[in-house]
Amino acid sequence: MALEASLAQLSIAQVSAEGASATKTLVFKPKTAKTAVPVPVVVVALQTTQTPAGAIAAAAGVKEPRLAKEDLVQEFFGVAPKEFSPASITKEHAGKIKLLVDQAITETGAYELSTESAKASIAGKDLIGYLQSTGVEIIPVDFSAAPAPTPAAAAKKAATAPKKNDAALDAKLIGVTVDKFLDFPGWYQQILTKGEMLDYYDVSGCYIMRPASYAVWEEIQDFFNKRIKAMGVKNCAFPLFVSQRVLEKEKDHIEGFAPEVAWVTRAGSSELDEPIAIRPTSETVMYPYYAKWIQSHRDLPLKLNQWNSVVRWEFKHPQPFLRTREFLWQEGHTAHLTFDEANEEVLQILDHYASIYQDLLAVPVIKGKKTEKEKFAGGYFTTTVEGYIPATGRGIQGATSHCLGQNFSKMFNIVVENPEGPDKPKLHAWQNSWGLSTRVIGVMVMIHSDNKGLVIPPRVSQYQAVVIPVGITAKTTEEQARAIKEGAKDIEATLKKAGIRAIGDYRDNYSPGWKFSDWELKGLPIRLEFGPKDLEKKSVTVVRRNDSKKYNVALDDLTTEIPKILDQLHHDLFAKAKEAFDTHRVVVENWDDFVPALNAKNVILSPWCGEMECEEDIKDSSAKRNDDEEEEVDEKAPSMGAKSLCIPFEQPELKEGTKCVKCGKKAINYTMFGRSY
Ligand SMILES: [Zn+2]
Repeated sequence: MALEASLAQLSIAQVSAEGASATKTLVFKPKTAKTAVPVPVVVVALQTTQTPAGAIAAAAGVKEPRLAKEDLVQEFFGVAPKEFSPASITKEHAGKIKLLVDQAITETGAYELSTESAKASIAGKDLIGYLQSTGVEIIPVDFSAAPAPTPAAAAKKAATAPKKNDAALDAKLIGVTVDKFLDFPGWYQQILTKGEMLDYYDVSGCYIMRPASYAVWEEIQDFFNKRIKAMGVKNCAFPLFVSQRVLEKEKDHIEGFAPEVAWVTRAGSSELDEPIAIRPTSETVMYPYYAKWIQSHRDLPLKLNQWNSVVRWEFKHPQPFLRTREFLWQEGHTAHLTFDEANEEVLQILDHYASIYQDLLAVPVIKGKKTEKEKFAGGYFTTTVEGYIPATGRGIQGATSHCLGQNFSKMFNIVVENPEGPDKPKLHAWQNSWGLSTRVIGVMVMIHSDNKGLVIPPRVSQYQAVVIPVGITAKTTEEQARAIKEGAKDIEATLKKAGIRAIGDYRDNYSPGWKFSDWELKGLPIRLEFGPKDLEKKSVTVVRRNDSKKYNVALDDLTTEIPKILDQLHHDLFAKAKEAFDTHRVVVENWDDFVPALNAKNVILSPWCGEMECEEDIKDSSAKRNDDEEEEVDEKAPSMGAKSLCIPFEQPELKEGTKCVKCGKKAINYTMFGRSY
């Protein structure tokens, strides 16, 4: 029975989907003796809650729970696992199953239940009320409190952990309460919202970029604008809308985007004669005008860029900065007379992208080319910079620079007279497009930040330094207190004058300790503490956000020393991230070692044949666990298949006769594979 029908039968009213939190309902089978009747464990939790096996085992008092196989779910609940929902639990199950409910689900919230075929949103009180009405005992679980590195350790700890965590939450309301390595998605959400970078919005998949993140974007814009303008690229703005006829002109291209295109079908109360699409990217928006403007070879090259937003209505789980329905980016579109010119530019832009990551964001990347399967739809070839997120062991595409070849110019009729004479055939322009989005901010945050909050690299941080007066107590004389405050303000002014983005925190309703935590949460690169001793010694104490390393800097040396400290901080962040990437990029020659290496949070360089079927086979085969047992217990990510990330420009030496890691045919290069975002 479809989910909506089930809920209607249970007389549960649906509520608006807006603002409803996605949930998951999972059935686990604990390890039991072969002859015993199994007691399934049902877990109802927020989609974002990690439900590690250890925590489930501890809360339900069972051993080694694993996701139940289809036949067990069918036998117990009469539905397939993909159609299983809380509505599948009935009075019949009282005393026969264990029911764990995520404490994050509350009576006051609204929740989206979904199965493969249906979705419905209901009020928290109805969800909990219904589960109670079945007579099945509800075991509430605080999954955020369960550190579960191993099932055994988790079983011991989970029983005591929740109380402790609640206390910590009360004592330090502003701090991050989730551990980066135990619950990465929860941690990421907390540092972004508590660090005031981003806020959630009531249209799912859309987010608000607050000044702290927009400032990072503006630094990137300044940096990139300088470089592309030096190459002769000009900024411009094209409309947000594109007609269906034009959008669908290039077939491969639209096929790549079709499922994600958002359409405007109505204005006020009247239906539009023809629906209008919102650009998912602007190739088809711009190229009819390229055809109009480019008449002679003297009109080439044409190099335009837009700083805009595009919309891709994805249904995969949204993630701030990484996967959002609307996002900011720049998209450059250029047309050239020759392939060589186009090719040269593709690589120049790729260098600029690598430089944004490495020189601004302190994030190491690998440059390379995408495989045919992963290249831009309708393009000739795609180059990319690829990053690595150590906490999850997943690769992430950083930015792409495409050579479109002459494919689009043929579709849109972008042609010029042959410079060699009117008797020679006309030439189709060679085109490129290249884009970098606000995803860069997410990558930067995931790599550098920690359990205290954000860590923002100094070159892009909204503020690079905060000055905080310290050591003022009840015993401090009024004169001394004034001198400390004035001194701190002088320091702030001196830094600003030297071009350092400084801010002073003179709020007198907070203690210095509270302020330290607050600015640590926001990720400011350094703080300058100025107190009675500093006043005496005419110096200031500088503390780095990333590692709490301290310096004493004479007030006279501020304008020379602080830039040096900020620079060193940038290099240290980069070195740490690079070491993590370098040690988790491993060469694998044999398929037997491939999945274990992936599971050890690596990205992999393997000799590869270059064939698309083989790439698909690698993805499918690496999605399964080695032992081909029941699926990985936790979220789907750990057992997700490996995609090709890129064919790195820098290659290990390919020895004569090397075979493809998967199919055994002749290898043509080393390709980087990994689980990815
Ligand atoms: Zn192969």
